[in-house]
Amino acid sequence: MLDTLRKFARKKSPWIMHLPCGGCNGCDIEVVAALTPKYDAERFGVLQRGTPRHADILMVTGIVTAQVKDRLKRIYDLTPDPKYVFAFGSCAIDGDIFNEGYAFKGPLDQVIPVDIYVPGCPPRPEALIDGLVKLLNKIDLKQSIE
Ligand code: SF4
Repeated sequence: MLDTLRKFARKKSPWIMHLPCGGCNGCDIEVVAALTPKYDAERFGVLQRGTPRHADILMVTGIVTAQVKDRLKRIYDLTPDPKYVFAFGSCAIDGDIFNEGYAFKGPLDQVIPVDIYVPGCPPRPEALIDGLVKLLNKIDLKQSIE
């Protein structure tokens, strides 16, 4: 019973930690826009958290740099299971225009496992919501396998 309640809460109220790793911050602005009343990502129960210990989803924007690589792994390890990683924007996926830079240590999925990819430079808030809905469906699938 408690397990069912937990699954229901996770599905209906995904708590997200936003991790801006680098890049130009354009993606971060779109993440913030998705939370405004115009796009209203909160209608899916989304709540932004400032600590990985309270997060279900890590939303990564920007490139993985030498500076953040180890921190990113540590934050991933600190996030309780089951956890999901959302790569938002082309920088998080493959480094985009920065992938030949000396500081690039990605792509993200070679550092931590990624569950959903939303490409774009930057993706629009609608794409974020679309990715979120796909991820929530994936959470259901994963949970039914458990
Ligand atoms: S994907 Fe584009 S908008 Fe997003 S951080 Fe990279 S360069 Fe900026």
